[in-house]
Amino acid sequence: MGDIDWVARAQELARDFSGRAEQHDREGSFPFENFEELREAGFLKLTVPQSHGGYEVPLSLFLRTQEELASGDGSTALALNMHQIRFGSEREAHTYPARWFDEMCRGAVEEGALSNTAATEEGLGSPAGGGIPETLAVAHEGGWTINGRKTFTTMAPVLQYIILSARISSTSDRPEIGTFMVRPTDEGVTVEETWDSLGMRATGSHDLVLTNVRLPGDRLMVRRTHGQPDPRGASGQTWFALGVAATTIGVARAAREYAVEFARTRTPLGNAPIRELPGVRMRIARIDLLIHRSRALVYDAARAWESREADGTLPVDRVVMAKVETLNACIEAVDIAMRVVGGVSLLKKRQVERCYRDVRAGLHNPPLEDRALEQLARRALDGQPSPPAGVE
Ligand SMILES: Cc1cc2nc3c(=O)[nH]c(=O)nc-3n(C[C@H](O)[C@H](O)[C@H](O)COP(=O)(O)OP(=O)(O)OC[C@H]3O[C@@H](n4cnc5c(N)ncnc54)[C@H](O)[C@@H]3O)c2cc1C
Repeated sequence: MGDIDWVARAQELARDFSGRAEQHDREGSFPFENFEELREAGFLKLTVPQSHGGYEVPLSLFLRTQEELASGDGSTALALNMHQIRFGSEREAHTYPARWFDEMCRGAVEEGALSNTAATEEGLGSPAGGGIPETLAVAHEGGWTINGRKTFTTMAPVLQYIILSARISSTSDRPEIGTFMVRPTDEGVTVEETWDSLGMRATGSHDLVLTNVRLPGDRLMVRRTHGQPDPRGASGQTWFALGVAATTIGVARAAREYAVEFARTRTPLGNAPIRELPGVRMRIARIDLLIHRSRALVYDAARAWESREADGTLPVDRVVMAKVETLNACIEAVDIAMRVVGGVSLLKKRQVERCYRDVRAGLHNPPLEDRALEQLARRALDGQPSPPAGVE
């Protein structure tokens, strides 16, 4: 088990993904074949605990694989991230009832069944903001009836385990929020193919609609009063934030490779190769600096989290610093790559154009920048440990 070179395996898959990425991006179609290859290569059990038949790779190795996969196709890697972090963070935080965690692990290991949360809603925005879902769960004899609509449900076409948040109907002035296990085969669960986005177009992040979905009582996984922090706490934030950051680095690396190859080979008629131009050389060097800085921050935060090493700045704060800095640095790096490539960088058939759109998406995955900075500011200015910036 320990002998598998996961990074090399991810690099191999990334080559296949990259050949299909342009078409999925144009069509906004879900890359089913990529997920079949991921399943065959063992990636769908990469972060599942060994006690449940998985490979239980450490956080930092998971991040390396995300980087490589994203260099082939950002959408596939971001979608996979949602599945991997579920097991990584739950392995540490133990917030789901054993019955459901065991089942999710068994599904991932034996069938390659994919898991993700459905938390965001049109009116709610990011659940990490602390709002109350409109999706409503009403208790009835022996179970629950749920109605609502979730947006941004990544991998909606293939999800098998949907971890859904809903407001629990009650007359109390302290609303409660429940986390429910929903299966795609539950009557009244449908996917509306609404995902038509600027970037990460092949993630299948469609709307999930629940119409009078009746669930047995044991589908309620977690129940908490509104305002109580996410029970996964810093584990949830760490796996999510760093997974998104590593994925973003992979996208920026793909743009960097494109720009370097372009600069090496582009020789305008009658002129010297553009790689000899001082401006181009400086730009390529700047891209490398930005990517290197991002990687240093992400793997520093992962190491700090794995060893729970404080070293002046708490691991949980290093995680949000790494996420915020990486997103901004990688967006800048891809922007510079576009400038190196010049006018043709605007053409859809150029991979760098897709990277330019994909690299932005992680800005809108938690922790969002404002909340991340607020977490740091509270620690610095109010001298109080703030709750993690939140995940959904
Ligand atoms: C590619 C992609 C995949 C996704 N996949 C999933 C998924 O699988 N499941 C899922 O549930 N969600 C998913 N999401 C949704 C994501 O997690 C966010 O919930 C979503 O992007 C909504 O964020 P928002 O910025 O519109 O939120 P809003 O909360 O509406 O925020 C809007 C703006 O207001 C600011 N703001 C709001 N509240 C505060 C506050 N308290 N303090 C400071 N600033 C604030 C925000 O920073 C932001 O600038 C995905 C998003 C993307 C882009």
